[in-house]
Amino acid sequence: MLATAPDNAVRMTKKPPVRQNAVLDVLKQYWGYDSLRPLQAEAIAAGIDHRDSLVVMPTGGGKSICYQIPPMVADRTDVVVSPLISLMKDQVDGLRECGYPAACLHSGMTDRDRREALDDAMNGRIRLLFVAPERLMIDGFLRSLEQIQVRSFAIDEAHCISHWGHDFRPEYRRLAELKRRFPVASFHAYTATATERVRADIIKQLGLRDPAVLVGNFDRPNLTYRVIPRDDVYGQAVEVIQRHAGEAVIIYCISRKDTEEMCSHLRAKKIKAVFYHAGMSPDARRKSQEAFANEEIDVVVATVAFGMGIDRSNVRCVIHAAMPKSIEHYQQETGRAGRDGLDAECVLLYSPSDIAKWKYILTKGAEEGGEGGMANLQPQFELLGHLQSYCQPYDCRHKRLVEYFGQRFEKTSCDACDVCLNESGDMVDATVLAQKILSCVARTKEKFGAKHIADVLRGGDTEMIRKWNHQTVSTYGIIKDMTVRDLTIATNQLADLGLLDRSNDGYATLKLNDASWAVMRGRQNVRLPKAPVAVTTEDRSREISWVGVDRGLFEELRLLRKEFADERGIAPFMVFGDASLRDMARRRPRGERSFRSMQGVGEAKMQEFSARFIACIDQYCAKQGLAEDMSAGPPQSASAPRREGKSPSGPVLRAYELFASGASVETVAEELHRAPGTVEGYLSDFIEREKPSTIGAWVSDADYCKIKAISAELGTARLKPIFEALNGSVPYPIIRLTTAHMNAVSNGR
Ligand code: ADP
Repeated sequence: MLATAPDNAVRMTKKPPVRQNAVLDVLKQYWGYDSLRPLQAEAIAAGIDHRDSLVVMPTGGGKSICYQIPPMVADRTDVVVSPLISLMKDQVDGLRECGYPAACLHSGMTDRDRREALDDAMNGRIRLLFVAPERLMIDGFLRSLEQIQVRSFAIDEAHCISHWGHDFRPEYRRLAELKRRFPVASFHAYTATATERVRADIIKQLGLRDPAVLVGNFDRPNLTYRVIPRDDVYGQAVEVIQRHAGEAVIIYCISRKDTEEMCSHLRAKKIKAVFYHAGMSPDARRKSQEAFANEEIDVVVATVAFGMGIDRSNVRCVIHAAMPKSIEHYQQETGRAGRDGLDAECVLLYSPSDIAKWKYILTKGAEEGGEGGMANLQPQFELLGHLQSYCQPYDCRHKRLVEYFGQRFEKTSCDACDVCLNESGDMVDATVLAQKILSCVARTKEKFGAKHIADVLRGGDTEMIRKWNHQTVSTYGIIKDMTVRDLTIATNQLADLGLLDRSNDGYATLKLNDASWAVMRGRQNVRLPKAPVAVTTEDRSREISWVGVDRGLFEELRLLRKEFADERGIAPFMVFGDASLRDMARRRPRGERSFRSMQGVGEAKMQEFSARFIACIDQYCAKQGLAEDMSAGPPQSASAPRREGKSPSGPVLRAYELFASGASVETVAEELHRAPGTVEGYLSDFIEREKPSTIGAWVSDADYCKIKAISAELGTARLKPIFEALNGSVPYPIIRLTTAHMNAVSNGR
């Protein structure tokens, strides 16, 4: 039976409160957290009760704690199967930093260390033992585990057991034998990406008995997704990175060569970056990975090889310089952004040539017998097709991703993707344009790609046009009011919509199909997005999770964190995550009692770090003349409503002072050295918080009246309908400020 999450939730609430308290005590003592996230309670209950389980939660959802708490509460030693050495090492280091006794066993350790780890397990000195699947299945090792009487196994990255998953590992298949060797033990499978088919396969392959199937919410509301047509990959990547100066960014490329070329372009722009791919020596790879994990480098350019071992929780942006080969890959790779629950951005630079490239790579691989051979080629093309469809700007990106994994998306707008933020432009009728493009494909004999078609339509003078004498075809130069770039994008969009076929030979030659003829004969209309709106401002939602955070203090605390990390040879996020540092820089705790209430401060970290962190905060506040202990309330967790900002301080406070005297957005932006978009965010918060009687300094009376009249009909929950009803005559920021004011004033009554 597949137990659903709600059933399990009920089971948990029936448990004696004593055990719930024990779980919460462990959570607070080791991790410094006050409450469990959705489904963690149910997953932990299954672990303690020895009920087999399959837990599917998106990256960053908090799976690890689900298998880390049960052995602590039940006072036993459990085994975690984990596919990568770096991943295990990170987890064990992180756990030890929290004072949690854990060890790992892998081939990179000396015999002595391995013996010591096993000895600790045999003598009950550790609660968790991490092992790689190939080591686990060695007979002598299984005998040791029998002696320890292991009663519970957690299988991390469990999708690796399924052919239908995107990362099949044959050595995972042997895990099925475990169930026979340990008939009374329970098995707990964990994964971040599994469609229904993969879930069923995991249960079957592992032989799970009546498992609790707990599927978390796949939506990651803290991620803002953008898909941007790619026309200048280096320039576009630099632009995105500049929005994240001083923050961690991962750039994914398809090939090893691409990573190296991107890296040298970034370095030429004075961006400190390293590359990472499987063709590098293990030593070089380790260096790149460590430089990134230790926050010596903020930008890493990588192939998919850079992945499961990356645990840096404060990655603020993931850029895909090209399309990956499935939604599963995309979800997993973007999942590395914002694991700390704070806002982060995911940008996919999409070009349809990626599809042609992948089809070529996959076909070649299949012909050589890789990835399941020719029989597996069609399923892989299907996975590719799903992602291609996701790249089209016709629907909310959060919705598309969530629905792909079989869940409903309840919100009407996410406010965190290019489509809902209206950056991809409105849809307009483009039937005549489509007819012209399709005719041009016909006139040039279906032998060329999108760029050449665009050159011909625009009436260009290129070598190809001269070579093929295309200045003589009837469609030459018939479109003058669009750039070649926009024409190329539109042509590609027609192919993405299935109104043109692309060849699989790596050249993406465009061919007509039945749908093309239907459009040319006027039997089918076409709608395409208007030219995309550039993302020029800093993403406002990112700023909100900074509300009340003193950035100067945050930077000081970051330096201190780095000192501690270097002293111990661990990654900085293992000392404290960014969410903890922001909490400290927002609430500025004075003394041990307040410090203990900060997010992420457990017992071990309290002992180790509190004195120097408190001293650092004291010093900073004295120097800046800032008050301490700003709020005695609970920490502002990542899941707390974003609007509940604490009292403004630092630059935000200064902005508020300037707004109070009627300063314009431009003036404030200049004084604070912030982007106008960011300052608009401050202004909107200022209006909501201070409820000024008029906002005439920023919005004209005429605009205010127009918006008020329209919103009486349409409401203020969504800005897009108001924008459209006003025919785009009033820009979004003005609408946002006005609705903020109308709401603030009416709430304040
Ligand atoms: P996953 O393995 O699902 O990708 P992790 O277990 O690494 O996610 O958790 C992601 C982050 O969330 C970690 O920094 C972890 O400490 C934090 N976290 C997990 N559970 C909680 C909780 N109940 N409250 C606050 N933070 C949590």
